[in-house]
Amino acid sequence: MSRPETSHLFYQTRQRRPVLDQARGVYMWDVDGKRYLDGSSGAMVCNIGHSNPRVLEAMRKQMDKSTFGYRLHFETEPAEHLAAKTASLAPEGLDKVFFVSGGSEAVESAIKLARQNAVAIGEAQRTKVISREPSYHGCTLGALALTGYAPLTAPFEPMMRPMPKIPAPRAYLDGLDPEDEATGHHYADMLEERILAEGPETILAFIVEPVGGASTGALVPPRGYMKRIREICSRYGVLLIHDEVMSGGGRTGKFFAAEHWDVDPDILVISKGFAAGYAPLGAMVAHRDIVANVLDAGGFLHGFTYAGNPLACAAGLAVLEEIERENLCANAAATGTLLKGELTKLMERYSIIGDVRGEGLLLAFELVDDRTTMRPLPRELNAFNHLVDIAYDNGLIIYSRRTRGGYCGDHFLIAPPMISTSGHV
Ligand code: PLP
Repeated sequence: MSRPETSHLFYQTRQRRPVLDQARGVYMWDVDGKRYLDGSSGAMVCNIGHSNPRVLEAMRKQMDKSTFGYRLHFETEPAEHLAAKTASLAPEGLDKVFFVSGGSEAVESAIKLARQNAVAIGEAQRTKVISREPSYHGCTLGALALTGYAPLTAPFEPMMRPMPKIPAPRAYLDGLDPEDEATGHHYADMLEERILAEGPETILAFIVEPVGGASTGALVPPRGYMKRIREICSRYGVLLIHDEVMSGGGRTGKFFAAEHWDVDPDILVISKGFAAGYAPLGAMVAHRDIVANVLDAGGFLHGFTYAGNPLACAAGLAVLEEIERENLCANAAATGTLLKGELTKLMERYSIIGDVRGEGLLLAFELVDDRTTMRPLPRELNAFNHLVDIAYDNGLIIYSRRTRGGYCGDHFLIAPPMISTSGHV
C-alpha cells in the first residue's frame, strides 16, 4: 500500500510519517523498504521486540478458541493465568489484579479503587491525590488531573478538580547530589509538608512513577527518596500508588522498577511492556485488603468492556514467559549499562549534552545551552523536533514529546527493546 495523499486519520498534529510495512526483533521497515532501529520500542512498549514467534503462536492458539468472553458472563483461562502470574511478580500482599486496556485506564482504576476503599473504611473525607510536577499519568480526565504537565493539561483545567502537586526530585537541575541521602529526603519531605498543608485527613493517595517517563526523561529518584515517601504515606494513612505503566515490565533491569529500592506500594499500575505491543493491555494490581474492603462494601463501581480480553491476556502471558525464559530483565540491566556508558561518553564530545540518566534500558539524555547552569537551549532552535528528525532520516527512532517546545527540558528517551545486544548499542 502506498501512502495516500489525504489521510482520514488524525492524531495530535498534522505530521505525517512513513507507512509501516513490517517489524522483526529490534527493526522496523516502511513500505519503501527503509529500515529503522526501534530505539524507543515505540513508546517504550515493544519490550521483547517485534513479531516474537512464541507470542504470535500463543495468540494464534487463543484466537482459534475464542477472542472475547465478556467478564460478567465468563471467566477465561488466559485472564486467570495472567492474573496469577502477575500476582507472583508483584510485592507481597498485592495479589489482586484488575485488567484494563492501557495505562490511562489503569491509573483511573487505581484512583477509583483508592477512593472506594476510603469510603468503605469510613474515611470519605479523603478525596485528594497528590502527584508530582512534571509527571505524566495519562490523558483521560481523571489521570490528566494528576498529570503535572501544563502544555497537556491547560485547556482542560476548568473541567478538572485541581489536585495538589509537589516538585519531582530533579536533583540534576537543582545542583544537588542524587547519591546523597539528604537529597532524597529533601524532596520526599515536600510530600509531608504538602500533606500537612492540605490536611492529612483529606489526602487519599500519592502517585509516583518510580523511574520517570516522558515528562521527566527517565528520572531516577535520588537515594533515600522512595523509602522516605513510603514512610510518609504510611504515617498519614495515604495510599501509595506506583505508576509503573512505563517502568514496569522489566526494562529498568527489575520487573517492577520499585524493586530497585525495595519499596512496596499499596496499588501499582502497569501497561506498556505488559503485553509489549502484541495487544492493548494494562493492569491495576492492588493489595488484597483494599480489594476486600471495596468488595465487602458492595463492589467496585468501575470496569471496561474489554477488560480481561482472552486474546490480550494470552499475549500478556506469553510476553511474561518470554521475559523469564530469555532472562530479559538481566539483559536490560547489562545492555543498559553499556548504552548509558556510551551515551555518557558523548557528553565529553558534545557540550550541549547536559545530562544522561535512567536505569537499565529506560534511558534519556538532555540537551542544554550550558551544562554548568543547565540553561535550556534557545526555543527557536527547536532542538526537540530537529534531533528526532535527524535520527529518523538516519534510520533510528528515538522518543521525545514533540511539539511541546521543551517545556520540561529538551530530553530524548532511548529505550530499545530488552532483546538488544551490544551490536545494536
Ligand atoms: N502513566 C505513565 C507513567 C505513562 O508513561 C503513560 C503513557 O505514556 C500513561 C500513564 C498512560 O498510558 P496510555 O497512553 O497507555 O493510556
